[in-house]
Amino acid sequence: MTNHRIALIPGDGIGTEVLPAARRVLDAVAARHGLAFSYDEFDWSCARYLREGAMMPDDGLDQLRNHDAILLGAVGYPGVPDHVSLWGLLIPIRRGFRQYVNLRPIRVFEGVASPLRTAEPGEVDFVVVRENVEGEYSEIGGRMNRGFPDEMAVQEAVFTRAGVNRVLDYAFGLAARRGGRLTSATKSNGIVHTMPFWDELVNERAQLHPLVPWDQEHVDALAAKFVLDPARYDVVVGSNLFGDILSDLAAAVAGSIGIAPAANLNPEREFPSMFEPVHGSAPDIAGRGIANPLGAIWSAAMMLDHLGHPAAATDITDAIAAVLAETSVRTPDLGGSAGTSEFTEKLLELL
Ligand code: ATP
Ligand code: MG
Repeated sequence: MTNHRIALIPGDGIGTEVLPAARRVLDAVAARHGLAFSYDEFDWSCARYLREGAMMPDDGLDQLRNHDAILLGAVGYPGVPDHVSLWGLLIPIRRGFRQYVNLRPIRVFEGVASPLRTAEPGEVDFVVVRENVEGEYSEIGGRMNRGFPDEMAVQEAVFTRAGVNRVLDYAFGLAARRGGRLTSATKSNGIVHTMPFWDELVNERAQLHPLVPWDQEHVDALAAKFVLDPARYDVVVGSNLFGDILSDLAAAVAGSIGIAPAANLNPEREFPSMFEPVHGSAPDIAGRGIANPLGAIWSAAMMLDHLGHPAAATDITDAIAAVLAETSVRTPDLGGSAGTSEFTEKLLELL
Protein backbone atom coordinates (compact mmCIF):
# COMPACT_ATOMS: atom_id res chain seq x y z
CA MET A 1 0.00 0.00 0.00
CA THR A 2 1.42 3.39 -1.00
CA ASN A 3 0.26 6.28 1.14
CA HIS A 4 0.01 9.83 -0.15
CA ARG A 5 -0.70 12.95 1.83
CA ILE A 6 -2.71 15.38 -0.28
CA ALA A 7 -3.39 19.05 0.49
CA LEU A 8 -6.87 20.12 -0.66
CA ILE A 9 -7.56 23.80 -1.33
CA PRO A 10 -11.17 23.99 -2.58
CA GLY A 11 -11.06 27.82 -2.76
CA ASP A 12 -14.16 29.71 -3.88
CA GLY A 13 -17.32 29.25 -5.93
CA ILE A 14 -17.49 26.04 -7.93
CA GLY A 15 -14.01 25.13 -6.65
CA THR A 16 -15.80 23.91 -3.52
CA GLU A 17 -18.23 21.87 -5.67
CA VAL A 18 -15.80 20.16 -8.06
CA LEU A 19 -13.06 19.25 -5.59
CA PRO A 20 -15.24 16.80 -3.59
CA ALA A 21 -16.07 15.09 -6.91
CA ALA A 22 -12.35 14.69 -7.66
CA ARG A 23 -11.82 13.27 -4.20
CA ARG A 24 -14.56 10.68 -4.67
CA VAL A 25 -12.94 9.53 -7.90
CA LEU A 26 -9.49 9.36 -6.27
CA ASP A 27 -10.87 7.21 -3.48
CA ALA A 28 -12.60 4.95 -6.00
CA VAL A 29 -9.36 4.15 -7.89
CA ALA A 30 -7.18 4.01 -4.77
CA ALA A 31 -7.99 0.51 -3.53
CA ARG A 32 -7.68 -1.08 -6.96
CA HIS A 33 -4.14 0.28 -7.38
CA GLY A 34 -2.88 -0.28 -3.85
CA LEU A 35 -3.04 3.39 -2.91
CA ALA A 36 -4.26 5.19 0.17
CA PHE A 37 -4.77 8.94 0.41
CA SER A 38 -4.97 11.12 3.46
CA TYR A 39 -6.26 14.65 2.97
CA ASP A 40 -5.66 17.92 4.77
CA GLU A 41 -8.11 20.62 3.79
CA PHE A 42 -7.23 24.34 3.79
CA ASP A 43 -9.88 27.09 3.58
CA TRP A 44 -7.57 29.50 1.73
CA SER A 45 -9.68 31.59 -0.61
CA CYS A 46 -11.06 35.00 -1.46
CA ALA A 47 -13.66 34.34 1.24
CA ARG A 48 -10.77 34.11 3.73
CA TYR A 49 -9.26 37.28 2.24
CA LEU A 50 -12.53 39.14 2.85
CA ARG A 51 -12.67 37.82 6.44
CA GLU A 52 -9.04 38.03 7.49
CA GLY A 53 -7.28 40.22 4.92
CA ALA A 54 -5.11 37.49 3.40
CA MET A 55 -5.72 34.62 1.00
CA MET A 56 -3.55 32.34 3.12
CA PRO A 57 -1.65 32.58 6.42
CA ASP A 58 1.95 33.88 6.51
CA ASP A 59 3.31 30.38 7.01
CA GLY A 60 1.07 28.94 4.27
CA LEU A 61 3.88 27.45 2.20
CA ASP A 62 5.34 25.77 5.28
CA GLN A 63 1.95 24.17 5.97
CA LEU A 64 1.85 22.75 2.44
CA ARG A 65 5.47 21.74 2.19
CA ASN A 66 5.25 18.22 3.59
CA HIS A 67 2.41 17.09 1.34
CA ASP A 68 2.98 14.90 -1.69
CA ALA A 69 0.78 17.10 -3.88
CA ILE A 70 -1.74 19.93 -3.78
CA LEU A 71 -5.18 19.75 -5.37
CA LEU A 72 -6.78 23.16 -5.87
CA GLY A 73 -10.37 23.99 -6.91
CA ALA A 74 -10.48 27.63 -7.97
CA VAL A 75 -10.01 31.02 -6.34
CA GLY A 76 -11.91 34.17 -7.25
CA TYR A 77 -14.84 36.18 -5.95
CA PRO A 78 -16.82 39.07 -7.43
CA GLY A 79 -15.42 42.29 -5.98
CA VAL A 80 -12.04 40.82 -5.12
CA PRO A 81 -9.61 41.88 -7.87
CA ASP A 82 -8.02 38.98 -9.75
CA HIS A 83 -4.51 40.15 -8.82
CA VAL A 84 -5.33 39.50 -5.13
CA SER A 85 -6.03 35.80 -5.67
CA LEU A 86 -3.20 35.49 -8.16
CA TRP A 87 -0.47 37.26 -6.20
CA GLY A 88 -1.85 36.26 -2.78
CA LEU A 89 -1.98 32.50 -3.39
CA LEU A 90 -1.27 31.04 -6.82
CA ILE A 91 1.94 32.86 -7.70
CA PRO A 92 3.57 32.42 -4.25
CA ILE A 93 2.87 28.67 -4.42
CA ARG A 94 4.10 28.35 -8.03
CA ARG A 95 7.27 30.35 -7.34
CA GLY A 96 7.96 29.14 -3.81
CA PHE A 97 7.68 25.50 -4.83
CA ARG A 98 9.55 25.98 -8.14
CA GLN A 99 6.55 24.79 -10.13
CA TYR A 100 8.11 26.13 -13.29
CA VAL A 101 6.17 23.89 -15.68
CA ASN A 102 2.49 24.52 -16.28
CA LEU A 103 1.14 21.56 -18.21
CA ARG A 104 -2.21 21.72 -19.97
CA PRO A 105 -3.36 18.75 -22.05
CA ILE A 106 -6.00 19.34 -24.71
CA ARG A 107 -8.19 16.60 -26.16
CA VAL A 108 -11.34 16.71 -28.22
CA PHE A 109 -13.31 13.77 -26.84
CA GLU A 110 -15.89 11.68 -28.64
CA GLY A 111 -19.30 13.01 -27.66
CA VAL A 112 -18.15 16.61 -27.13
CA ALA A 113 -18.99 19.20 -29.75
CA SER A 114 -15.98 21.37 -30.42
CA PRO A 115 -16.93 24.86 -31.61
CA LEU A 116 -14.66 24.18 -34.59
CA ARG A 117 -15.58 22.10 -37.60
CA THR A 118 -11.79 21.62 -38.00
CA ALA A 119 -11.55 19.60 -34.78
CA GLU A 120 -12.66 16.00 -35.16
CA PRO A 121 -12.98 13.91 -31.99
CA GLY A 122 -9.86 11.86 -31.38
CA GLU A 123 -7.70 13.87 -33.78
CA VAL A 124 -6.87 16.66 -31.39
CA ASP A 125 -4.57 15.55 -28.58
CA PHE A 126 -1.79 17.90 -27.60
CA VAL A 127 -0.20 19.53 -24.57
CA VAL A 128 0.66 23.16 -23.91
CA VAL A 129 3.73 23.60 -21.71
CA ARG A 130 3.72 27.06 -20.19
CA GLU A 131 6.72 28.58 -18.41
CA ASN A 132 5.16 29.24 -15.01
CA VAL A 133 7.42 31.39 -12.83
CA GLU A 134 9.23 34.09 -14.83
CA GLY A 135 8.79 35.86 -18.17
CA GLU A 136 6.21 38.58 -18.65
CA TYR A 137 4.56 38.21 -15.22
CA SER A 138 7.03 40.21 -13.18
CA GLU A 139 6.76 42.88 -10.53
CA ILE A 140 9.52 44.93 -12.13
CA GLY A 141 8.46 48.22 -13.64
CA GLY A 142 6.54 51.28 -12.61
CA ARG A 143 4.18 54.10 -13.42
CA MET A 144 5.06 57.74 -13.94
CA ASN A 145 3.23 61.04 -14.36
CA ARG A 146 -0.09 59.64 -13.20
CA GLY A 147 -2.99 61.60 -14.65
CA PHE A 148 -0.77 63.82 -16.85
CA PRO A 149 -0.58 63.78 -20.64
CA ASP A 150 2.89 62.20 -20.45
CA GLU A 151 1.73 59.36 -18.21
CA MET A 152 3.56 56.11 -18.81
CA ALA A 153 3.86 52.56 -17.53
CA VAL A 154 6.84 50.24 -17.90
CA GLN A 155 6.68 46.48 -17.36
CA GLU A 156 9.83 44.39 -17.61
CA ALA A 157 9.84 40.75 -18.67
CA VAL A 158 12.48 38.53 -17.09
CA PHE A 159 13.95 35.57 -19.00
CA THR A 160 16.89 33.73 -17.48
CA ARG A 161 19.05 31.12 -19.21
CA ALA A 162 18.45 28.64 -16.37
CA GLY A 163 14.72 29.35 -16.20
CA VAL A 164 14.13 28.96 -19.94
CA ASN A 165 16.41 25.93 -20.29
CA ARG A 166 14.66 23.93 -17.59
CA VAL A 167 11.19 24.38 -19.07
CA LEU A 168 12.53 23.64 -22.57
CA ASP A 169 14.19 20.46 -21.32
CA TYR A 170 10.89 19.40 -19.78
CA ALA A 171 9.04 20.12 -23.04
CA PHE A 172 11.60 18.31 -25.23
CA GLY A 173 11.50 15.35 -22.82
CA LEU A 174 7.70 15.27 -22.95
CA ALA A 175 7.74 15.37 -26.77
CA ALA A 176 10.23 12.47 -26.74
CA ARG A 177 8.00 10.42 -24.39
CA ARG A 178 4.96 11.10 -26.56
CA GLY A 179 6.93 10.32 -29.72
CA GLY A 180 5.88 13.68 -31.10
CA ARG A 181 7.02 17.07 -32.24
CA LEU A 182 7.82 20.21 -30.26
CA THR A 183 6.58 23.62 -31.39
CA SER A 184 8.01 26.73 -29.74
CA ALA A 185 5.86 29.86 -29.53
CA THR A 186 7.91 32.96 -30.26
CA LYS A 187 7.52 36.56 -31.32
CA SER A 188 11.10 37.48 -32.16
CA ASN A 189 10.02 39.69 -35.04
CA GLY A 190 8.40 42.19 -32.66
CA ILE A 191 10.00 41.56 -29.26
CA VAL A 192 13.66 42.12 -29.98
CA HIS A 193 15.52 41.15 -26.78
CA THR A 194 13.77 38.41 -24.85
CA MET A 195 12.30 36.46 -27.76
CA PRO A 196 15.52 36.13 -29.82
CA PHE A 197 17.12 34.93 -26.55
CA TRP A 198 14.32 32.37 -26.16
CA ASP A 199 14.80 31.24 -29.80
CA GLU A 200 18.56 30.83 -29.31
CA LEU A 201 18.00 28.68 -26.24
CA VAL A 202 15.45 26.53 -28.11
CA ASN A 203 18.08 25.98 -30.81
CA GLU A 204 20.71 25.07 -28.23
CA ARG A 205 18.47 22.68 -26.30
CA ALA A 206 17.35 21.02 -29.52
CA GLN A 207 20.94 19.83 -30.01
CA LEU A 208 20.63 17.94 -26.72
CA HIS A 209 17.44 16.24 -27.90
CA PRO A 210 18.43 15.29 -31.46
CA LEU A 211 15.65 12.74 -31.87
CA VAL A 212 12.82 15.21 -31.26
CA PRO A 213 11.60 17.05 -34.35
CA TRP A 214 10.81 20.67 -33.60
CA ASP A 215 9.88 23.98 -35.14
CA GLN A 216 8.92 27.46 -34.03
CA GLU A 217 6.03 29.69 -34.94
CA HIS A 218 5.10 33.25 -34.12
CA VAL A 219 2.47 33.21 -31.41
CA ASP A 220 -0.06 35.15 -33.49
CA ALA A 221 0.15 32.62 -36.33
CA LEU A 222 0.04 29.80 -33.79
CA ALA A 223 -3.19 31.15 -32.29
CA ALA A 224 -4.77 31.21 -35.75
CA LYS A 225 -3.65 27.64 -36.47
CA PHE A 226 -5.02 26.39 -33.13
CA VAL A 227 -8.39 27.33 -34.61
CA LEU A 228 -7.78 26.33 -38.23
CA ASP A 229 -5.83 23.10 -37.75
CA PRO A 230 -5.44 22.05 -34.07
CA ALA A 231 -4.74 18.41 -34.99
CA ARG A 232 -1.24 19.25 -36.22
CA TYR A 233 0.17 19.97 -32.74
CA ASP A 234 1.70 17.65 -30.18
CA VAL A 235 3.70 19.60 -27.58
CA VAL A 236 3.65 23.40 -27.70
CA VAL A 237 6.00 25.31 -25.39
CA GLY A 238 5.63 29.01 -24.63
CA SER A 239 6.59 31.73 -22.20
CA ASN A 240 4.39 32.54 -19.21
CA LEU A 241 2.13 34.96 -21.13
CA PHE A 242 2.06 33.15 -24.46
CA GLY A 243 1.48 29.79 -22.75
CA ASP A 244 -1.36 31.25 -20.68
CA ILE A 245 -3.20 32.67 -23.67
CA LEU A 246 -2.62 29.66 -25.93
CA SER A 247 -3.78 27.15 -23.33
CA ASP A 248 -7.04 29.01 -22.63
CA LEU A 249 -7.66 29.19 -26.36
CA ALA A 250 -6.92 25.50 -26.68
CA ALA A 251 -9.28 24.62 -23.82
CA ALA A 252 -12.08 26.47 -25.61
CA VAL A 253 -11.25 24.65 -28.87
CA ALA A 254 -11.70 21.36 -27.00
CA GLY A 255 -15.39 22.10 -26.33
CA SER A 256 -15.77 23.27 -22.73
CA ILE A 257 -13.52 25.04 -20.27
CA GLY A 258 -15.14 22.77 -17.66
CA ILE A 259 -13.11 19.77 -18.91
CA ALA A 260 -9.62 21.28 -19.09
CA PRO A 261 -7.04 20.35 -16.42
CA ALA A 262 -3.71 21.88 -15.44
CA ALA A 263 -0.63 20.76 -13.54
CA ASN A 264 1.87 23.13 -11.93
CA LEU A 265 4.90 20.88 -11.78
CA ASN A 266 8.12 20.91 -9.86
CA PRO A 267 9.74 18.21 -12.02
CA GLU A 268 12.64 17.70 -9.60
CA ARG A 269 10.15 16.85 -6.81
CA GLU A 270 11.92 19.09 -4.30
CA PHE A 271 8.48 20.49 -3.41
CA PRO A 272 4.85 19.45 -3.89
CA SER A 273 3.32 20.07 -7.30
CA MET A 274 -0.15 21.60 -7.64
CA PHE A 275 -3.05 20.39 -9.79
CA GLU A 276 -6.06 22.53 -10.67
CA PRO A 277 -8.79 22.79 -13.30
CA VAL A 278 -8.20 25.55 -15.85
CA HIS A 279 -11.56 27.19 -15.10
CA GLY A 280 -12.11 29.79 -12.41
CA SER A 281 -14.68 30.03 -9.62
CA ALA A 282 -17.54 30.64 -12.11
CA PRO A 283 -19.60 32.95 -9.86
CA ASP A 284 -22.44 32.89 -12.41
CA ILE A 285 -23.21 29.21 -11.67
CA ALA A 286 -21.68 28.80 -8.19
CA GLY A 287 -23.92 27.28 -5.51
CA ARG A 288 -26.29 25.62 -7.99
CA GLY A 289 -24.61 22.21 -8.08
CA ILE A 290 -24.31 22.17 -11.88
CA ALA A 291 -20.57 22.71 -12.39
CA ASN A 292 -18.79 20.25 -14.66
CA PRO A 293 -16.41 18.29 -12.40
CA LEU A 294 -14.29 16.79 -15.20
CA GLY A 295 -11.59 19.50 -15.15
CA ALA A 296 -10.98 18.78 -11.46
CA ILE A 297 -11.21 15.01 -11.96
CA TRP A 298 -8.75 15.08 -14.88
CA SER A 299 -6.44 17.26 -12.74
CA ALA A 300 -6.56 14.54 -10.07
CA ALA A 301 -5.56 12.01 -12.76
CA MET A 302 -2.56 14.20 -13.66
CA MET A 303 -1.66 14.21 -9.97
CA LEU A 304 -1.67 10.39 -9.88
CA ASP A 305 0.54 10.30 -12.96
CA HIS A 306 3.01 12.69 -11.31
CA LEU A 307 2.98 10.61 -8.12
CA GLY A 308 4.08 7.60 -10.16
CA HIS A 309 0.75 5.84 -10.76
CA PRO A 310 0.16 6.09 -14.52
CA ALA A 311 -2.20 3.08 -14.62
CA ALA A 312 -4.50 4.64 -12.02
CA ALA A 313 -4.36 7.93 -13.96
CA THR A 314 -5.32 6.16 -17.19
CA ASP A 315 -8.29 4.49 -15.44
CA ILE A 316 -9.60 7.98 -14.69
CA THR A 317 -8.98 9.47 -18.14
CA ASP A 318 -10.61 6.39 -19.71
CA ALA A 319 -13.64 6.92 -17.47
CA ILE A 320 -13.75 10.59 -18.55
CA ALA A 321 -13.70 9.53 -22.21
CA ALA A 322 -16.40 6.92 -21.50
CA VAL A 323 -18.76 9.26 -19.66
CA LEU A 324 -18.41 11.84 -22.44
CA ALA A 325 -19.00 9.27 -25.21
CA GLU A 326 -22.08 8.00 -23.34
CA THR A 327 -23.82 11.39 -23.72
CA SER A 328 -26.94 10.46 -21.70
CA VAL A 329 -25.88 12.12 -18.45
CA ARG A 330 -23.95 15.39 -18.56
CA THR A 331 -23.79 18.87 -17.07
CA PRO A 332 -25.42 21.91 -18.75
CA ASP A 333 -22.12 23.29 -20.17
CA LEU A 334 -22.07 20.13 -22.33
CA GLY A 335 -25.71 20.46 -23.29
CA GLY A 336 -27.16 18.18 -20.61
CA SER A 337 -29.25 18.74 -17.49
CA ALA A 338 -27.43 16.67 -14.86
CA GLY A 339 -25.89 18.11 -11.72
CA THR A 340 -22.29 17.77 -10.57
CA SER A 341 -22.97 14.79 -8.32
CA GLU A 342 -25.15 12.88 -10.80
CA PHE A 343 -22.45 13.31 -13.49
CA THR A 344 -19.77 12.16 -11.03
CA GLU A 345 -21.96 9.18 -10.09
CA LYS A 346 -22.22 8.17 -13.76
CA LEU A 347 -18.45 8.42 -14.18
CA LEU A 348 -17.88 6.27 -11.09
CA GLU A 349 -20.24 3.68 -12.53
CA LEU A 350 -18.16 3.52 -15.73
CA LEU A 351 -14.82 3.56 -13.91
P1 ATP B 1 -12.69 33.68 -11.91
O1 ATP B 1 -12.82 35.12 -11.60
O2 ATP B 1 -12.68 32.80 -10.71
O3 ATP B 1 -11.54 33.39 -12.85
P2 ATP B 1 -14.37 33.73 -14.22
O4 ATP B 1 -15.83 34.06 -14.28
O5 ATP B 1 -13.41 34.71 -14.70
O6 ATP B 1 -14.02 33.27 -12.73
P3 ATP B 1 -14.51 31.03 -15.08
O7 ATP B 1 -14.81 30.60 -13.72
O8 ATP B 1 -13.44 30.28 -15.76
O9 ATP B 1 -14.06 32.50 -15.15
O10 ATP B 1 -15.85 30.95 -15.93
C1 ATP B 1 -15.97 31.34 -17.29
C2 ATP B 1 -17.30 30.82 -17.84
O11 ATP B 1 -17.23 29.38 -17.99
C3 ATP B 1 -18.46 31.07 -16.90
O12 ATP B 1 -19.61 31.38 -17.64
C4 ATP B 1 -18.64 29.77 -16.16
O13 ATP B 1 -19.95 29.54 -15.74
C5 ATP B 1 -18.20 28.74 -17.18
N1 ATP B 1 -17.55 27.61 -16.49
C6 ATP B 1 -16.32 27.60 -15.94
N2 ATP B 1 -16.05 26.43 -15.36
C7 ATP B 1 -17.12 25.66 -15.53
C8 ATP B 1 -17.46 24.33 -15.12
N3 ATP B 1 -16.61 23.55 -14.43
N4 ATP B 1 -18.67 23.86 -15.45
C9 ATP B 1 -19.53 24.61 -16.14
N5 ATP B 1 -19.28 25.87 -16.55
C10 ATP B 1 -18.10 26.40 -16.24
MG1 MG C 1 -11.17 34.56 -14.58
